[in-house]
Order: sequence, then structure tokens, then C-alpha cells
Amino acid sequence: MLRLKTDRELAIMEENAAMVAELLVEVVLRATPGTTTGELDRWAERWIREAGAEPAFKGYRGFPATLCTSRNDEILHGIPSEKVHLEDGDLLSVDVGLHRQGYFADAALTVPVGSVSPQAESLMGATRGALRAAGEAVRIGGRISDLSHAMGGYVRQRGFHVVREFVGHGIGRELHEDPQIPNFGPPGQGPKLWEGLVMALEVMAKTDDEPVVIREDGWTAVTASGGLSAHYEEMVAVTADGPKVLTGNIWEAYCRRRM
Ligand code: MG
Repeated sequence: MLRLKTDRELAIMEENAAMVAELLVEVVLRATPGTTTGELDRWAERWIREAGAEPAFKGYRGFPATLCTSRNDEILHGIPSEKVHLEDGDLLSVDVGLHRQGYFADAALTVPVGSVSPQAESLMGATRGALRAAGEAVRIGGRISDLSHAMGGYVRQRGFHVVREFVGHGIGRELHEDPQIPNFGPPGQGPKLWEGLVMALEVMAKTDDEPVVIREDGWTAVTASGGLSAHYEEMVAVTADGPKVLTGNIWEAYCRRRM
């Protein structure tokens, strides 16, 4: 069942989305060679609590941390650790959620640590482009799988592969609400998009086309071949005026600050 949000709910969710976007940029700016993912996690948790919110992932189905930090062949749900030192050339994905005034926010960003390979740059570009294509496919009365189709096609045309095992999702009073939004599939299927729907749209792409593998920690999803992966997630509301990206353009915000 889709839970459509009122204007009052949307206003709170927009504030929360702006917070999560700001935090995400602050975290990845700190992701320099030598930093541990555990340090990033402690920093993010403090930031969220000082802002009067709560980490959404910590304790969620037993997940132990505030951030998911996934490097290189790790696709998502990587567990931050004081033992994991970032290195020049790493591709780092950070996913973070928070809860405030009864509503969740959730976003993810993949960034280079130092300088990365041309393949990594091109994978990031394809994954971001696919998210933009999905956002552009959002229209009232359209179907959820129109977004899936846009994502999958964009990634495939650039020679990469989407992850089939994980999905984007509705978001609101619950972290994961209906509908599920796969990264692939034919258009014209699934629930209709109505005004007031808020989605955490996410694209996860990788260099190989194998099923993903879950590490023995029970969380970290990795590519079977050891190939690279990237993950971008933003919150989009369906409004009478068209799609509204509640998290803003996180990548651009990051690029501006990095200079
Ligand atoms: Mg999500």
C-alpha cells in the first residue's frame, strides 16, 4: 500500500532530506587516504544526534552502525570499522539514514578517495546518470517500473550492469515503505505514481553481471568477480508540479565543496 504524504508531512521530510544530504557531503569530504571508516561513522553519529535526530540504520535489523561504508567491490551495507583505512584510489560509497519528527530520510553517494581509475570515473558517471534518468521519468499517473526501465537502460547502454538483488523504496514514517523500485525491468508495470508519494530512488551499478555475494558478516554485499560498484540514492517526491528532489543535487554540492 502506498502511503501518500500530506503537505505537512512533506515539509518535515524535506527538512530531514536536506539534513541527510548535508551530512553526506560532510562525511565524504572527510573520506581522505588514511582515515578509517570507523572514524567517519563516529563523526556522523555525533552530527546526527547534535542535530536533534537519530541514526536510522543503527540497530535496524541488527545493523551495528550509523553509516554503511562500502569500498570498491563492496556494493552496499558495508560495516564501518576502525581497521579499514581508506586508500588513495578507493571508490567509497556512503549510505546514511536519519529519523526526526517521526519521519525517515535516506541517501547515498559514491566518491573517489584521491584519484581513481578511468573505469571507476565512468562507472560513477553512469550510475549518477541513471538516477537522473529515473527522476526524469517520474510523472503522475506513470508506473513505478518506468523508473526501473530508465535506470536499467541507462546503465546498460554505458556497458555496466545494475544490481538486481536490492531495490529503491518508498519512505516516510517507515524507512522502507511500498513501493519497491528495482533497478531494471520493462516499463508500464507496478503501482501508479500519485501526488504525495515520496521515494528513496537508488541505483546500484557494477562492472560485472554476476549475482551479488553476501560476506560472512551477513551484511556486506560484494560483486562476485571483485569488480567495482557504485551507489547513488536520493529522495524524490511526486508533486503536482512534477518530481521534486528533496535531497537536492548531492553530487554537485560535494563537487562545489571539494574544490
Ligand atoms: Mg535506501
